Amino acid sequence: MNKCELFEKCGFFSRYRKTSNVACRGFIALYCKGPKLNECKRKEYMQQHGQPPEDNMLPNGYLTSK
Ligand code: SF4
Repeated sequence: MNKCELFEKCGFFSRYRKTSNVACRGFIALYCKGPKLNECKRKEYMQQHGQPPEDNMLPNGYLTSK
């Protein structure tokens, strides 16, 4: 299975990996373990800034409430 190479360091993934929230599960299935693996905005942010974004930034770049 494809998996994002950053998931061990990723605040979004560690926070939501066990969630039952359908939207978050959808993001994980689509990005962290799915076809949009390389389109993740969190990953882009980390590459640009050399540090991770806030945990509440979603893979699509939107922010959720904390
Ligand atoms: S949110 Fe993005 S950076 Fe984090 S594990 Fe998922 S795909 Fe990787």
